[in-house]
Amino acid sequence: MDHRESKELAFATRAITAGRQHGVAGSPMNTPLVMASNYRKGGADNYAREEGTPTWRAFEAALGELEGGEALAFASGMAAVSAALETLPIGARVVAPKDAYSGVLQLLREGDASGRWQASFVDQADTEATVETLPGAAMLWLETPSNPLLEISDLPALLAAARAAGVRTVVDNTFATPALQRPLALGADVVMHSVTKFLSGHSDLLMGALVSADAELAAALRHRRHLGGATPGGLEAFLALRGLRTLPLRLERAQANAAFLALHLAEHEEVSRVRYPGLPSDPGHTRARAQMQGFGAMLSFELEGDAARTDAFCRALRLIEHATSLGGVESSLERRAAYSGQAHVPPTLVRMSVGCEDPYDLVQDLDQALAATRGR
Ligand SMILES: *Cc1c(COP(=O)(O)O)cnc(C)c1O
Repeated sequence: MDHRESKELAFATRAITAGRQHGVAGSPMNTPLVMASNYRKGGADNYAREEGTPTWRAFEAALGELEGGEALAFASGMAAVSAALETLPIGARVVAPKDAYSGVLQLLREGDASGRWQASFVDQADTEATVETLPGAAMLWLETPSNPLLEISDLPALLAAARAAGVRTVVDNTFATPALQRPLALGADVVMHSVTKFLSGHSDLLMGALVSADAELAAALRHRRHLGGATPGGLEAFLALRGLRTLPLRLERAQANAAFLALHLAEHEEVSRVRYPGLPSDPGHTRARAQMQGFGAMLSFELEGDAARTDAFCRALRLIEHATSLGGVESSLERRAAYSGQAHVPPTLVRMSVGCEDPYDLVQDLDQALAATRGR
């Protein structure tokens, strides 16, 4: 994870130092929580929806430094997604993944049905098929690793092909975080985050972000936020930055746990398939090794039996939370095909967000729930 680029501080260090006012005597160690919508005339700030607040800007400065661009905080991940899509002209074509966050897929489908844009859904693990759909498109939306199938798309190849075709690229970096993947450095125009997940890390807030290294594009996105109005709360931004400081620590533990559980589940007779890019047998393993600095803390596995058995398994857990979201310090899981619009997801697939607990406690809980529901 401590991928050291020449002369740069390691990521774990930068997560601590990013956006800090080092060496200002007497200043508070952390940017205080500023709750202000309105500012007196004559200064740089005027109204928070336009320029933000010192608290949002502290978060944005840190995330921007870690992703390598200018960051903008939004009220939620979906607010950030909407702002990015709103930059498209009416009727423009978006190439999007077949497997991606369910809310993004739903928004794209509804916008396609209403004529706001045209969405072409492709298998983004298939580089050739994706590149073939690019001519005439305005935007390529990528999500890797994808939710919930953990597919890895070839970022360097797809981003280069999109650039050559004049297609704007947005990468949802929620699962990897900048600790493990830096899409802007690989050629992406925009990085999108659900800050709700790993970046903030404690399941206690909703927030989103867009990051771009292109000043003109960043200004257009800021303008979308200004007029769309999906701005973050002050407390949310404060907590998100506090969470971001421990991202490398949390992820290091969660990722080690995920690798351990993936190996354990792959050997388990009640589990028919494990999807985790860290497994050498995983179809995305080679790509993940090439473009990521680690394999992350998300994994999916399919149980023997049917959907009812899988639901019983989810309810039989005593430690691991049966819950939808992800990226918290607590482990949680759910059966994803239970959601509408997830017809492509195998019925017994369980998506697990691996947390920071002791790995043996997690294994024991999975094992007891698998044993308790065997043959059901
Ligand atoms: C949760 C999530 C989103 C949406 O973010 P919200 O903060 O819930 O609005 C988008 N993409 C991915 C990959 C997610 O996991």
